[in-house]
Amino acid sequence: MTERTLIIIKPDAVQRHLVGQIISRLEGKGLKLVAAKFMQIPEKLVRQHYAAHKDKPFFAPAVKFMTSAPSLLMIWEAEGCVDMVRRMIGSTFGYEAQPGTIRGDFGCSQRYNLIHGSDSPESARDEIELFFEPDEIVDYELSDAPWLYSKRISPKK
Ligand code: ATP
Ligand code: MG
Repeated sequence: MTERTLIIIKPDAVQRHLVGQIISRLEGKGLKLVAAKFMQIPEKLVRQHYAAHKDKPFFAPAVKFMTSAPSLLMIWEAEGCVDMVRRMIGSTFGYEAQPGTIRGDFGCSQRYNLIHGSDSPESARDEIELFFEPDEIVDYELSDAPWLYSKRISPKK
């Protein structure tokens, strides 16, 4: 099923000039970009976004990190993209993330981790609603969609 995922290229990735390289990975994989905005995320929104972690000891530092400088927020779309992108991102911190993943290749911090991707289709829906208005999401076709998303080649007639 076609899914959408919320991606945040976080303040550390913007400051470290990694925006282009991270977008290249998502583009190269064949995901479809349907919305984007560059902003310093207000504290109120970050608190809502990480509400599930509000009682954890890292909540306050995580909010401080996410509000410290601008981020690039995007919605990407493809069948099964929520899990696919989480696998591309890798585990929470670069020092332990697998090489080949975004966090594994571009960072080694135990505090800053470059990118957020929704962890389920349900949280993607909530996160997209939190950060984007419906009219900020663009509906269009990718001209190479049959090559990107076909499941098998039809037999010759
Ligand atoms: P994200 O939700 O940002 O994609 P994640 O799903 O890999 O990251 P979560 O468990 O949802 O990880 O944690 C949310 C954020 O809180 C992390 O991205 C990180 O910035 C921070 N965080 C998580 N665990 C820790 C920890 N043990 N120590 C410090 N910060 C942490
Ligand atoms: Mg998470």
